[in-house]
Amino acid sequence: MSFEFLGLSEEVISAVTDAGYVEPTPIQRQAIPSILMGRDVLGIAQTGTGKTAGFTLPMIDILAVGKSKARMPRSLILEPTRELAAQVAESFEKYGKNNKLNMALLIGGVSFSDQVRKLDRGVDVLIATPGRLLDHFERGKLMLNGVQILVVDEADRMLDMGFIPDVERICKLVTQKPQTLFFSATMPPPIKALTDRFLDDPKLIQVAPPATAAETVRQKIVTVGPRDKLKALRAFLNLPEVTNSLIFCNRKVDVSAVYRELKRDGRNVAQLHGDMVQSDRTEVLKKFKDSEIKILVASDVAARGLDILAVSHVFNFDVPFNPEDYVHRIGRTGRAGREGTSITIATPKDSKSVAAIWDLIGLKAESIPVPGLRSARPAPAQPPQAKAPVAKEDRSGRPRRRRGRGRSDGQPAPRSQAQSEKNIAPRTDQKRDQRPQPQRANPERPQSKKVGLGDHVPAFLRSDGGKN
Ligand code: AMP
Repeated sequence: MSFEFLGLSEEVISAVTDAGYVEPTPIQRQAIPSILMGRDVLGIAQTGTGKTAGFTLPMIDILAVGKSKARMPRSLILEPTRELAAQVAESFEKYGKNNKLNMALLIGGVSFSDQVRKLDRGVDVLIATPGRLLDHFERGKLMLNGVQILVVDEADRMLDMGFIPDVERICKLVTQKPQTLFFSATMPPPIKALTDRFLDDPKLIQVAPPATAAETVRQKIVTVGPRDKLKALRAFLNLPEVTNSLIFCNRKVDVSAVYRELKRDGRNVAQLHGDMVQSDRTEVLKKFKDSEIKILVASDVAARGLDILAVSHVFNFDVPFNPEDYVHRIGRTGRAGREGTSITIATPKDSKSVAAIWDLIGLKAESIPVPGLRSARPAPAQPPQAKAPVAKEDRSGRPRRRRGRGRSDGQPAPRSQAQSEKNIAPRTDQKRDQRPQPQRANPERPQSKKVGLGDHVPAFLRSDGGKN
């Protein structure tokens, strides 16, 4: 099916053709006609599915009729991070090049006065992060009663970042009932409550089950001792097939520490995390997209949803605390049908987190050795018997993130050749596996406090290798 059958205007189809798209993606096929008919949409979809064009293209056609008034945007798109907001703005520029729509981007870290000037001129499309939008609203620079289309994108990440109260407030401030388009990769209870409240008989579109790992990504895992993590990373980075890579760490301090180590090697590397000023974040991202920088060390918040098409490798320098973050991380490669590889560098202590990931995605990554390094005892291959790594929930209803990790004595399950060739192993009889389960870390055990480096010292920098 081509774009011509979706009801889009010639201007938009021509822009899409210039972008090189031949066929609409499944979410575009389902969402575009419904949005053009004025229906609310609930899209359960990850980034990488083409969802941005799925809502941008019909919006351009709907907004082509009508005129904006000063300080009264005609449509509003909420994004959790500045980078995602900037990316959606780029999409509007690309797909709306044959239309004359005014657009404004309201994100933190850049001057208020420029943003106010744009609002004063009248905007058809306002793309914003919730905090900065509310700042403008409270200063009286903005009215939301002219919003005809409201898009809430990446709602589950909004939840992770504590933005749901802001999103709810904004939905209430949009007093004229807008057409609402809501996108989330997963539907935890607080998100479901929000959609029940603000969506009116939405068209439900689910293009991939929540937390399905991209099929185009070859997922691999290596298990090493904590002191060997950096050595392992370096060994992989030296492989010729690693043309450019994203390296994820769980904490900002580790992002900086890994970045410094790789910089010291003389590698072409940059870092991206939430504590950096916006102008630096934007510049780093641009250089990485333009291939001026080949290695980007990043935190989850900074890197979520980034649309960088040609990343050959994603490395999890740390196994993520939250299994869903694993899916988002590896989704940075293998985008739009291209092949990619993810390599997770685990330690034996990560066994529970690793098993929770396999449990969530329903398959296991291929266990591989580090080139030139002796492997530590691998994390066990079976998922845990309890479903999630932590049962307790925080106020938002999501599993609370863990601080400590369990110990493991587990051994890997033998793999058939067929399984090895497919890189991933199906999860079939794992739950029946009777091998001993990982033990819990002793909560009574005193934590030794390191002075001078804050509470957290990356394991690979510690003299004990992170054993204590
Ligand atoms: P998104 O899920 O919106 O982040 O989009 C992921 C990537 O897919 C972006 O790089 C888009 O440019 C690309 N894309 C979107 N729609 C299509 C399409 N119909 N054909 C090919 N690529 C597409």
